[in-house]
Amino acid sequence: QVKDNLIEWDKNHFIHPTSSIKEQQEAGPKCIFEEGNGIYLKDIDGKEYIDAMSSLWNVNIGHGRKELAQAAEEQMSKLAFSSAFSTFSHEPAIRLAKKIAGLTPGDLNAVFLTSGGSESNDSAFKLARHYWMISGKPERRKIISRKKAYHGVSAGATSATGIPEFWKMGGMLVPDFLHVETPYEIGTEEAINSIRKMIEQEGPETIAAFLAEPVQGAGGVIIPPDDYFRGVRKLCDEYGILFIADEVITGFGRTGKMFGLEHWDVVPDMMTFAKGVTSGYFPLGGVAVSDSIHDVLKEHSTGTLFHGFTYSGHPAASAVALKNIEIIENEGLVENAQKMGEELLKGFRQIKEQIDIVGDVRSIGLLGAVELVANPDTNKRFTPERKVAAKVIQALHDRGVICRAVTYDSTDIIAFAPPLIITREQVNDLVQTLHDAILEVRKTITI
Ligand code: PLP
Repeated sequence: QVKDNLIEWDKNHFIHPTSSIKEQQEAGPKCIFEEGNGIYLKDIDGKEYIDAMSSLWNVNIGHGRKELAQAAEEQMSKLAFSSAFSTFSHEPAIRLAKKIAGLTPGDLNAVFLTSGGSESNDSAFKLARHYWMISGKPERRKIISRKKAYHGVSAGATSATGIPEFWKMGGMLVPDFLHVETPYEIGTEEAINSIRKMIEQEGPETIAAFLAEPVQGAGGVIIPPDDYFRGVRKLCDEYGILFIADEVITGFGRTGKMFGLEHWDVVPDMMTFAKGVTSGYFPLGGVAVSDSIHDVLKEHSTGTLFHGFTYSGHPAASAVALKNIEIIENEGLVENAQKMGEELLKGFRQIKEQIDIVGDVRSIGLLGAVELVANPDTNKRFTPERKVAAKVIQALHDRGVICRAVTYDSTDIIAFAPPLIITREQVNDLVQTLHDAILEVRKTITI
């Protein structure tokens, strides 16, 4: 009865984020989750699932960590909320800003806090334009990002996103956003040239910043060639353009380094983060900026930021983030992500040898993908009507594994981002289940 009520109320009253409302109306929620423990989620019927996506690429330390609940409780009992506007401040936000400044590479030493990834990216765009404005170059307003990028759903972030599906609601919402090629199926040279061409075409003096995810997540887990970001950094320096790294997915250990760009020893001018900073236990994000940007903001009397969210530096969210980061560090979760990522990739490669519809497989730390194709030798894709990835996702779901299909541009990509606490046995279990699910679908397919 309770379940029936919940399903009915869900259909009648709950507009789900990123959903087909019609489908959801007809079928109702597929899963009502009730509990989480480690890498597992349990639904209202008591069925257990491996949360192979860390929910939305964010539950890095896994579910059910009481220490985080306790950190929230302690902070909320003492000071649940107060303002950090202007000259007001409070201890958890101060400590968090200092902690993140210490973790981020290079001279990213000052941190602006938000409630999530979209807000962080929009804040970074405004900060970049503000920086140019007070530096006497107000014409530097344009933001270049990449095709297949996902940066969120607020006005700026939607416009920076390079997946056209996300422009269906109202189009690209703000002007001065441009998209270039990403190094997916093309080399570094071609991808870098695409950025150069755009800069030259628009005029370097009009470009505020280049924005990129170190590994594109929602676009299909696209891991760049090793020399790509060094090329990006060089190009941005050549034209005096700010480089903003969107580490919303890749931050806080996901790729086997604390931040994704560390794989290539590249330091951006700004870094946006969210998700793994609290492992989703509280909404929080932010932007870390370099000393040289911070110095300009500090020095100018016109540097006032007319920008801040009510929940910028939320005390309880900050306390939870600090405890989450402590767990990531004390339990060696960055190293575990690196080791278990190698194990996961080994498993993917075995599946590729065993089943003839598996194309490219990849993983960097615990951020991985398996592509399903009609012909792995030529990389010929299935036609979208065959819904191959969706069928594999369903077969996985039936077997108690939750992960995600990426089907933009007629791809059939299965994305994986399990919690960083995953063990070797759990990786093996996940790989075996994936094998069985793909094989089951393979049997229904004629090529
Ligand atoms: N940037 C990246 C790379 C993301 O993957 C996401 C969310 O998935 C966002 C930004 C937006 O974050 P949020 O959903 O917290 O606004």
